[in-house]
Amino acid sequence: MTEKSPTQKPRLPKIRRCPDGHYSLREECPVCGKSTTPARPPSFSEKDKYGEERRKVLYS
Ligand SMILES: [Zn+2]
Repeated sequence: MTEKSPTQKPRLPKIRRCPDGHYSLREECPVCGKSTTPARPPSFSEKDKYGEERRKVLYS
């Protein structure tokens, strides 16, 4: 997805995700304390499940 349109700025808070898969709005995961990275909204979580498998292969 492209984010070049300034008029379509999402109002949702920036959801972040830690390496263990926890979702948080903080830069530090409240569950495991690891640093989080920006993640897509929960509505994309179903696709993300499969994407996670691919990332494990790609980034390991
Ligand atoms: Zn975590």
